[in-house]
Amino acid sequence: MTTALPSLFVSHGAPTLVMDPVPTRDFLRALGQAMPRPKAILCVSAHWDTVAPRLGSGQRPHTIHDFYGFPDELYDMTYPAPGAPALAERAARLLGGAQIPAALDQERGLDHGAWVPLSLMHPQADVPVAQLSIQSHLGPRHHLEMGRALAPLRDEGVLIMASGNATHNLREAFSLGLNAPPVPYAREFADWLTARIESGEASDTDALLDYLAKGPHGPKNHPTPDHYLPLLVALGASAGAGTRLHDGYTFGVLSMAAYAWN
Ligand code: ZN
Repeated sequence: MTTALPSLFVSHGAPTLVMDPVPTRDFLRALGQAMPRPKAILCVSAHWDTVAPRLGSGQRPHTIHDFYGFPDELYDMTYPAPGAPALAERAARLLGGAQIPAALDQERGLDHGAWVPLSLMHPQADVPVAQLSIQSHLGPRHHLEMGRALAPLRDEGVLIMASGNATHNLREAFSLGLNAPPVPYAREFADWLTARIESGEASDTDALLDYLAKGPHGPKNHPTPDHYLPLLVALGASAGAGTRLHDGYTFGVLSMAAYAWN
């Protein structure tokens, strides 16, 4: 009998997280070693936003360098983890059973929302990975419901790993130094997020769905929803309260908080 794996949310920051000397890099390295080894990972990334849910189902997903203006070294990196086509099919069936039709996509590779944290957590690239897309235009509740539909995977040795950012005001991200102290508006939102997650009450789930209105400086911390919505998939795949595994900031405005739900 296998024990259920946690569902996980990580903040991935800038693609340079793989090389930057910041505590979040070290946290992700340690996390991969501390957690039970999953049979496969279903990664919900902020960087794949589609009209309807899609699941990467290729045998050997290629590495996507979906960023501009970063050091050459980053464009040379690859993350050659095997794909997880059987997991993609299983996830599509679970979503379909919840009236959320999802399509398989054999051509899709791994974007940096997936491979940046995974290359720190599993540097040997030996755990199979399938990616699931978000649908920004379908809003928060849709993502919570996708998580609920996918929850059985946790009992099947699959790690549901959502990758976004706890706060994500990119416009202001590169005007401050890498290790700048957190600006108050970001810290207030991240602390609110942690309190809601760690309480785990139904009213807190409602608040998390209504994050733009209920979270301090919601629209300023998430001018677009893409880096927040993956968190709701991880939340939906859980029951009850979560735990903050890591707190930290890059560029003063990006909360790098990570959460797990057991
Ligand atoms: Zn990102």
